[in-house]
Amino acid sequence: MRWILHCDLNNFFASVEMLKNPEYRKIPMAVSGDPNKRHGIILAKNQIAKKYGIYTPETVFSALRKCPNLVLVKPHYEEYVKYSNLVNDIYLKYTDKVERFSIDEAFLDVTESINIFGTPYKIAYKIKEEIKSRYGLTISVGISFNKSLAKLGSDLKKPDAITVLDYDNYKRKIYNLPVEMLIYVGKNTKEKLNKMGIKTIGQLALSNKYRIVKHLGKLGEQIYNYANGLDNERVKFYYEKEERKSVSKGITFESDIDNVVQIEREFSKLASRVSYLLRSIDMKASIIAISFKDNMFITSSRQKRVEYTNSYDKILNAVLELLNDNYINGTKIRYICVNASGLKGNNNDNIQLDLFNIYDNKNIANDKKSSAIKAMDKLKHKYGDKVDYCSALDFKNKT
Ligand SMILES: [Mg+2]
Repeated sequence: MRWILHCDLNNFFASVEMLKNPEYRKIPMAVSGDPNKRHGIILAKNQIAKKYGIYTPETVFSALRKCPNLVLVKPHYEEYVKYSNLVNDIYLKYTDKVERFSIDEAFLDVTESINIFGTPYKIAYKIKEEIKSRYGLTISVGISFNKSLAKLGSDLKKPDAITVLDYDNYKRKIYNLPVEMLIYVGKNTKEKLNKMGIKTIGQLALSNKYRIVKHLGKLGEQIYNYANGLDNERVKFYYEKEERKSVSKGITFESDIDNVVQIEREFSKLASRVSYLLRSIDMKASIIAISFKDNMFITSSRQKRVEYTNSYDKILNAVLELLNDNYINGTKIRYICVNASGLKGNNNDNIQLDLFNIYDNKNIANDKKSSAIKAMDKLKHKYGDKVDYCSALDFKNKT
């Protein structure tokens, strides 16, 4: 049996700002992409701000409406990276299987550490206390026999808390929770499940697997398994780098589509997912390809060279160009795919800043767009393909 910890720094960006400026502990405060512009996005908030109903990510405009006294602080990414690395160094004292999930979250496989350091709870407690006493930051820890339950556990009690979900108690502790508390159950998936009469994790666990797969595909199978405590995914080693040759994303439609605007829209979603994937593995691509399968199952594929990129706009441009050159109006499309290859690593001096998965590291503080992208990357990290940049841009246009 495995023992996995999910460690989550509480209100991380806001907590680091409060370390630097303790006055912020007494007032409603939030870190936002661009505090001077009202369409900036709230990236983190302190507990007092949370009481006003401010959430992440929401626009500064809407947050200020809820709390006119809200103090907005611009992000100090170098500081966050510094603390994140320091905290990861503490994790590494207990195991070399430390998989960073984001700037403020990591999975630890401590199965083989138990003989040396004691029970998983003891290990979690030592880690939590050491981070608190050395750096003044708190974490919440979920402990379980797999990653998805450990992740869920860290959300159950916070801040500064430990939750154990083991074989004996996990059903009792999670069955009554809303289904969207499971990792990868975003807004759309939640709505689909709710429509099927599934509101809790227990209802999902006890549902008919084939019905879930029929409605939600591969994701459905995954979350059904998670609800049933089935998840074999391993925790990667801290220094492990995956060799990727290409990344791709495809989608099969429930019914064929032949409306150009709709096809473009679907392709833009895939461009968004591919650009996110590239940023999350810290790579850029030099070949962008699209393929589509028509209702006769004939597949067309076209590709084009681009300057090394992982930006949504550039990938989208290439995709739309390929589409416009190759799609014959009226053809009914059943499946589309975007593929990025010819990859190379992001040889960037500020490589650590890529943890934030942003377009341009040099313009972080002032670049509204990159902070929006960053907030979206964070969401994508949590909710997967249910979140896309095109919707982020729609969102931006509305505000
Ligand atoms: Mg956190």
